[in-house]
Amino acid sequence: MKKAMHRDFAAWLIKSKALCVRFDEPMSRHTTLGVGGPAEALVIADSKKALAELVQKAAQFGCPWQVLGHGSNVLVADEGIRGLVIRLGKGFGRIRDISGKTVFAGASVRSATLCRHAVRQNLNGFQILAGIPGTIGGALVGNAGTSAGHISEIVREVYLMDSLGAEHKIVASQIRWGYRSMALPEAQAQKPFIVIGVGLGLCPAKNGQSLEKEYALLLERRKKSQPWGPGLAGCFFKNPPGPLSAGALIDKAGLKGFGVGDAVVSSVHANFLVNRGNARASDFIELMEKVAERVRQASGISLEPEVRVLL
Ligand SMILES: Cc1cc2nc3c(=O)[nH]c(=O)nc-3n(C[C@H](O)[C@H](O)[C@H](O)COP(=O)(O)OP(=O)(O)OC[C@H]3O[C@@H](n4cnc5c(N)ncnc54)[C@H](O)[C@@H]3O)c2cc1C
Repeated sequence: MKKAMHRDFAAWLIKSKALCVRFDEPMSRHTTLGVGGPAEALVIADSKKALAELVQKAAQFGCPWQVLGHGSNVLVADEGIRGLVIRLGKGFGRIRDISGKTVFAGASVRSATLCRHAVRQNLNGFQILAGIPGTIGGALVGNAGTSAGHISEIVREVYLMDSLGAEHKIVASQIRWGYRSMALPEAQAQKPFIVIGVGLGLCPAKNGQSLEKEYALLLERRKKSQPWGPGLAGCFFKNPPGPLSAGALIDKAGLKGFGVGDAVVSSVHANFLVNRGNARASDFIELMEKVAERVRQASGISLEPEVRVLL
């Protein structure tokens, strides 16, 4: 793959004291699916200042970049990623209670950490994120959710940084939310952006409600109904309109256990494709195509991927 990074930019990255940089870093180490070739550089920024400098320098040298959260909803190609993969470090990992009802979470806060915080503070609303791996930034970008709802229902405002390092605050009503998607208002939509924090509206628990018990029950239910552990990236396909979920359609097409190399359709929940150990990204891509084709033949329904393919 042709490199996108100018050597002067690489030299600047090496000199930077504010950034943690790893060149040719295999993405299989940073995705829950455990596949993916190297990024030209993986860069961890711990502060807004360091992040702004990084994207400004990247713009100056014309180096492309992408953001990675916990890597629990992505499939990185075997060829790897041209340019930078940016990760937000500890400086974006804080949770602050702003009032009795609003909680600010930095984008690198894990959804599970936010859930535990809400349970401790006796705040309802976290149920939407219960059992979803990954970061709040990733959850926001994918409008993540469960049967309890979507994160868009509890977002009040979003804090962003654009590709020139400028910060923006966007209120949730300005965002166009979709099924596993969000689109920024016109003014910001043209540029790549980094979510740096989110204001969430939660509400006090009702009298006698035990959030701790509720949270434990939600996690237990998920562990019974879907596979759990490494080698997963959540549901691979979006649920199509209509009565049958993507998982039900894949199951009906007789595809549980079907595989390409070490990438297989889970026998617990057919919308989960699992890395049995040594799968490559190309195995997952071929499996996704075959599954979608077999479902189309069996039901006439076209499945769309939910997992994001990063190139
Ligand atoms: C076992 C398992 C169960 C799952 N269950 C669910 C579920 O019930 N519901 C659900 O919705 N999802 C589910 N997922 C998918 C995934 O966990 C969620 O989508 C999660 O919110 C992704 O967060 P992440 O930090 O891992 O994002 P990543 O996978 O790292 O990134 C996802 C996308 O968001 C972008 N992104 C990430 N962070 C930022 C940021 N700060 N700024 C800008 N862009 C960013 C990335 O570029 C990428 O396009 C599941 C995954 C697994 C492995």
